Amino acid sequence: MSDKLLRMISRDQKIRAFAAETTELVETARKIHQLSPIATAALGRTLTAGAMMGVMLKNPNDKLTIQIKGDGPLGGIIAASNHQAKVKGYVHNPEVYLEPNKLGKLDVGGAVGRNGYLNVIKDLGLKEPYIGFVPLVSGEIGEDLSYYFLKSEQTPSIVALGVMVDRIGEVMTSGGFIVQVMPEAGEDVLATLEKNLGNISSVTTYLSQGKKIEEILEMVTGKIDMQVVDIIKPKFICDCSRERMEKALISLGSKELKDIIEKQGQVEIECHFCLNKYSFSKEQIDNIIEQ
Ligand SMILES: [Zn+2]
Repeated sequence: MSDKLLRMISRDQKIRAFAAETTELVETARKIHQLSPIATAALGRTLTAGAMMGVMLKNPNDKLTIQIKGDGPLGGIIAASNHQAKVKGYVHNPEVYLEPNKLGKLDVGGAVGRNGYLNVIKDLGLKEPYIGFVPLVSGEIGEDLSYYFLKSEQTPSIVALGVMVDRIGEVMTSGGFIVQVMPEAGEDVLATLEKNLGNISSVTTYLSQGKKIEEILEMVTGKIDMQVVDIIKPKFICDCSRERMEKALISLGSKELKDIIEKQGQVEIECHFCLNKYSFSKEQIDNIIEQ
């Protein structure tokens, strides 16, 4: 099964949907960050949503970041994405372990925490980024994002996200969808969609049975005629570089840099998103300070 992301719109243009299979993407994130099963689920759900929300952006250079900060042991989640569904992300405590919840499932809400906030930062190439901010609803991420779309973007949305891991913690399936109802669609449409969603079991169960994400989405959209507008391959890719790290070093200021060189003989900096390390020798730092 290969990752893919579909952008869809109903024939009458009143409903739009995004559906994504992200098994490879989330497995890549798990391996890079050595994520525990629950951290895999939490970051995986956020990355999957991030990929879809990136594609919602209008322009090729637009970027989006989702930050979730709850009072649970996971400590926080960051996922960043762009218009091409290239995503990267990390959690603060990748090794968190919790007992399954009452339903026998990974307790993502417990790991994230139910008190806290979710914010979405959109860099649209303007002077100031757009920032949307909502309190957490359940810490399960799907519900929290649904609340975000309603409160911050005034767009009623159904968000379903899921990650299933096997006994040794590897990702078996991952995916999700977002269905958004335009104001002219009417409230009964949303009610029907929500009712349909309530009747299906989890996304990952169907994915593990070999169903395609668009088939699962169809169980929710029912008779609505959804047309595929675009198919994109979502990927976990980090865009860090030595130049970018240099800029981060410059922002520390020359005094701080000199202090580090004095103590450690060199400066080593690690990218939070992909854990690549960049080291700078004394000469290189001197050059940066001079410039
Ligand atoms: Zn990186």
